[in-house]
Amino acid sequence: MRDDTWLKTRFEQIWSLFFPEVEKKNVFIRWKGHWKNKFGHIKRTKKGSEIAINLLFKDLRVPEDIVKLTIAHEIVHYMHGFHSHLPRQYDHPHQGGIVDKVLKEKGFSYALKQERQWYKTEWLPLYKELCPEKAQPHPRSIRRRSMWSMLFK
Ligand SMILES: [Zn+2]
Repeated sequence: MRDDTWLKTRFEQIWSLFFPEVEKKNVFIRWKGHWKNKFGHIKRTKKGSEIAINLLFKDLRVPEDIVKLTIAHEIVHYMHGFHSHLPRQYDHPHQGGIVDKVLKEKGFSYALKQERQWYKTEWLPLYKELCPEKAQPHPRSIRRRSMWSMLFK
């Protein structure tokens, strides 16, 4: 079961295995949000640096590698000094593909490839199933569809 403990354990493992050189200070992880176009984020809160992972990723149909990659992605932002105590190394968090570059160096190339494919083919149908009310078509497309259904009644 992907509960809070599961997430915290993965977080500790990924940090110590792949980012041992990055000082881990005042940072925590949590499930949050029902996002369609965001897998995770990092931001500063009163409690410290918050790494949030899309709550919908608790669903076991989301491959574990995608969750791990999302955790690693946010740690890279932390490492570059975004929303962390570390010195900021770049102006923008995704400048020139710096996140993927580090992830590739750390051996996540296979996961990046898997993520691209999964996002293209699996994510949207799963999102629609998990959040049917949010995945409603745009009002304009509803109108267009009812016009078509009138034409073909
Ligand atoms: Zn990012």
